[in-house]
Amino acid sequence: MDQSNKTPSGQSDDHSKLDDQKHSPPVAKNTCDAEQKGPSRREFLQSAVVPLAADHMVLASTTEPESESLYQPKEIWEERMEAPDDGKKFGWFIDTRRCFGCHGCEVSCKAENDVPLGNYIRQTIYKDVGEYPQVARMFLPMACQHCEDAPCIKACPCGALHKGTGGSVLVDYDTCCGHGTCVDVCPYGAIYMDPVANQAVKCHNCVHRIEESMEPACANTCPADAIYFGDLNDPTSKVSTAMKAAEIEGLDVSQLRAEKETKPRMWFTGPAPQEVEERVPREGESYNAESYNIFNWKEPKDEE
Ligand code: SF4
Repeated sequence: MDQSNKTPSGQSDDHSKLDDQKHSPPVAKNTCDAEQKGPSRREFLQSAVVPLAADHMVLASTTEPESESLYQPKEIWEERMEAPDDGKKFGWFIDTRRCFGCHGCEVSCKAENDVPLGNYIRQTIYKDVGEYPQVARMFLPMACQHCEDAPCIKACPCGALHKGTGGSVLVDYDTCCGHGTCVDVCPYGAIYMDPVANQAVKCHNCVHRIEESMEPACANTCPADAIYFGDLNDPTSKVSTAMKAAEIEGLDVSQLRAEKETKPRMWFTGPAPQEVEERVPREGESYNAESYNIFNWKEPKDEE
């Protein structure tokens, strides 16, 4: 499978507009035969609704969570859920106590991966807590959790989402047809649909960098040493060393939305995950440029 990291549009914010006359419009390359491999999201939703009244429609399935009802039959995805047997197990450890919200990880990720204006592969989500003058801003750097039991792989009808080196969850851009079902089932809102090529884009652990023995761009850029990536099977890797140090220090280490049972490969320490969790996108959502809007800074108060 093509494990190319490139975002499908290859579009670089406003530079693409300036270069319009030099570059032909991006075209999604794919070979998806959705009719053979499963229904599209739209076809599924059309078949899954039953009319109660002209203005009232509900999902037909009442016995399983909506996201699970979007999963494909196991035989379609089980091979793609298997990571290559390379002895590696990539994971992340985020020390939220150290993050001071510079957004350097986001910026380097955008630059590294040609992420268009208004879209994000990763986002540092924040929340103001306390009462003036005792206030604080908490920061939670978020991206794909590279789930071991990845719902996005289970729901992908065209076979594009799969496991790559060290269990990295990747998109095959020769295959992705833009159904967007992966967005509907990701419990962390970690995927966006490329606005030009209409293909799914998400963190891919910067596979093109780690294959050259470099770190992912975000981890390499973070000036606060808040983001650790590496091979969990290697006790000398940065992620293993940081997690060991947290254990020795007696720090609480947690995972976000562990109740979703997707076995995420990202661990956090510090209070931010609990405080900021409500602001992390959910199924059907993606990171949102509006989350930094100054008008969101003022929290609504119960008494107002
Ligand atoms: Fe897939 Fe979302 Fe899990 Fe990443 S966090 S592996 S995109 S389900």
